[in-house]
Amino acid sequence: MIFPNELEQLVSLTRDIVASDVAPRAAGVDEHCTWPAASMEAFAAAGLLGLQVPATLGGHGQGLLALAAVSAEIARACPSSSLCFGMHCVGTAVIAAKATADQQERYLRPIAAGRHITTLALSEAGTGAHFYLPETQLVKGDTGYTVNGTKQFVTNGSHADSYVVSTLASDGSAAGGDFSCLVVDRDTPGMGWQGDWAGFGMRGNSSRALVLDSVQVPAANLLGAEGDQVWYVFEVVAPFFLMAMAGTYLGVAQSALEAAGAHLRNRRYAHSGAALRDIETLQTRYAKMWIAFQKTRALVFEAAARGDAGDPDALPFLLASKADAGETAIALAGDAMTICGGSAYRDNSRVAQMLRDARASHVMSPTTDLLHLWAGRALLGIPLL
Ligand SMILES: Cc1cc2nc3c(=O)[nH]c(=O)nc-3n(C[C@H](O)[C@H](O)[C@H](O)COP(=O)(O)OP(=O)(O)OC[C@H]3O[C@@H](n4cnc5c(N)ncnc54)[C@H](O)[C@@H]3O)c2cc1C
Repeated sequence: MIFPNELEQLVSLTRDIVASDVAPRAAGVDEHCTWPAASMEAFAAAGLLGLQVPATLGGHGQGLLALAAVSAEIARACPSSSLCFGMHCVGTAVIAAKATADQQERYLRPIAAGRHITTLALSEAGTGAHFYLPETQLVKGDTGYTVNGTKQFVTNGSHADSYVVSTLASDGSAAGGDFSCLVVDRDTPGMGWQGDWAGFGMRGNSSRALVLDSVQVPAANLLGAEGDQVWYVFEVVAPFFLMAMAGTYLGVAQSALEAAGAHLRNRRYAHSGAALRDIETLQTRYAKMWIAFQKTRALVFEAAARGDAGDPDALPFLLASKADAGETAIALAGDAMTICGGSAYRDNSRVAQMLRDARASHVMSPTTDLLHLWAGRALLGIPLL
């Protein structure tokens, strides 16, 4: 797909930042489970944090295609940075969807100016992958709300300036996913962080648990109206999250393809002088990797373009994209491990990291199994839930 000119420039800008600020630190982010502060600072300085902020508020006013394309560029070098950037963008899109004038000034303008990082805190231990069923309680008071609950796996946890939190509707009538979303500012009394993040992969994303103990949130921080937020989940959270993650795993798949190609060209045998690329079995394996990557790339960008255009048939494309990108990333990282041989396996190498990072796709909800289920239902005209 040829991107519109403005998006091509954003992708090119991202590529430059990744080369100068993200790639040199990527191995350290993975090794030490370091939240990628330098990446986020570079994105902020370049104006990329405002990717999803409307142009009238100083942002780029971009949609799903830009999110997928930019995320893919970042993930080619540092999937953790892509995850942190992506969850910030999803949180931004949720705030922007029905922002009041006050929320525009307090959140969206600072985000566009690179002064504010947000993120999404939906998942809970009790309901796991069923992220649309929060158990966190919201009680309405005279001037605002009291929030009680615990969120799991909050990407950018303890580093973001605000957290988009889902709760049960305050009148207690919540059933089948009827809940509210609000923005909780960092360091609000009653917020506490549990444990450190030391994941199998995505080791820089600081996915920590957030305890909300009688946290007081002003009424002005409610997003939309109370109890109407199933709309948020399926109209905003789902498409933006799916495209951020599909782009991220597309980037991992591309880096695996590139690593395999470089090793095939560079590895030579002393006994024959032949390179690995001269071996037919590996030529075939590499071609299959390239085909899988191109098919996934086409699906992801097709889905994003359909979503941006408001195509009523976009849903199965969007659902399938994240599932497919995750599966392709895992398969290609596995192939790259095979092609790159013992050196890649021995050293917990960059290719090994790709395999670990790619595995997050199957457990980050909507998980691969849920996406296949929902895509099938969407195609057959059956309600997703
Ligand atoms: C790296 C990482 C970053 C994350 N970042 C965030 C974040 O920023 N914000 C956030 O809110 N959450 C985040 N999450 C949480 C994530 O989205 C999931 O909520 C979480 O991983 C679910 O874990 P669980 O063990 O409770 O899953 P479980 O619910 O126990 O599921 C276990 C498995 O069962 C499968 N399963 C469950 N029900 C069904 C079904 N009906 N049909 C088919 N299969 C089913 C699931 O697909 C999964 O494979 C993150 C997770 C990870 C790993």
